[in-house]
Amino acid sequence: MTREVGITTTVPVEILLAAGCKPVDLNNRFITHADPAGLVREAEELGMARTLCAWIKGIYAWALANPQMETVIAVTQGDCSNTHALMELLALAGRRVIPFDFPYGRDPQAIADQLTRLARALGTTVDQAEEVRQGLAGLRADLACLDEMTWREGKVSGGENHLWLVSSSDFDGDPDEFHGRLKDFLAQARERPPRPKAKARLGVLGVPTIMSDLHQCLEALGAEVVYNEIPRQFAMLPTGNGDDESLVEQYRRYTYPYDVFHRMEDIKEQIALRGLDGLVHYTQSFCFRQMQDLVLREGLKLPMLTLEGDRVGPVDARTRLRLEAFVDVLR
Ligand code: SF4
Repeated sequence: MTREVGITTTVPVEILLAAGCKPVDLNNRFITHADPAGLVREAEELGMARTLCAWIKGIYAWALANPQMETVIAVTQGDCSNTHALMELLALAGRRVIPFDFPYGRDPQAIADQLTRLARALGTTVDQAEEVRQGLAGLRADLACLDEMTWREGKVSGGENHLWLVSSSDFDGDPDEFHGRLKDFLAQARERPPRPKAKARLGVLGVPTIMSDLHQCLEALGAEVVYNEIPRQFAMLPTGNGDDESLVEQYRRYTYPYDVFHRMEDIKEQIALRGLDGLVHYTQSFCFRQMQDLVLREGLKLPMLTLEGDRVGPVDARTRLRLEAFVDVLR
């Protein structure tokens, strides 16, 4: 039986695949569960505090309910301290926990050492993972195509873009099947007429939203989301300049687990490329990344609305009003 390996954020999935494991992004399993709010409630009944990030609670309850996932990768640098404590709870529940770091400073040798450690722990090698990386090139190129069809051609909606890119952290556990579905989707999307011009072109920054219909809500207000910052990072799209990077370079270019300044350079490039009018910065209640809002506001010279989400569910009436006012101002 294929070993399922849980991940709580994007990690070098090529290594998991080279080891013959099935990657399972716990965030994706939680948020696409039939009753994600029920999972959060279950975790609270087990004793998790009300004042704790809902993503942590949801993935904890999902992991407990799925004991076939015996191993979990713990990102001990580059992710939050809540995840560290979550790993301790999962170790207590009998799971094997394998540590992985994204070294602060993005030193290539330090990243290479981490890749080697992870490969060894899973029973494979970095060379084998490099072969998997090359095998995924076509899939990642098609994800880049999907992204272009969002911001350049207007044939893929911001919500669809978010869903495909965010799912690429684990390719729903099966890259071949995922790629097949993606090709079908792209073929259908190519036949669509381009969307009419929107009142405002927006980028959504920050951790993936726990609100189930943020993109749809913005679209209903006449705006279009043409940039999903972190989901795009998860997808590890090709550079576009024809370079064949190594795994080290790919995970060095990835912005999410490193400092906010590296992240901001990438955002600035995309603002210019995509001709954005404004930004929505999504933050999660009780998340340390909320503090980075100050840096982003200081460094990005574009109107920005900061939203805070806590519970799973649709956009509430107050948030909808704030979004409406923001889109009207941009128009
Ligand atoms: S949203 Fe923030 S606090 Fe919650 S799991 Fe992600 S990084 Fe941690």
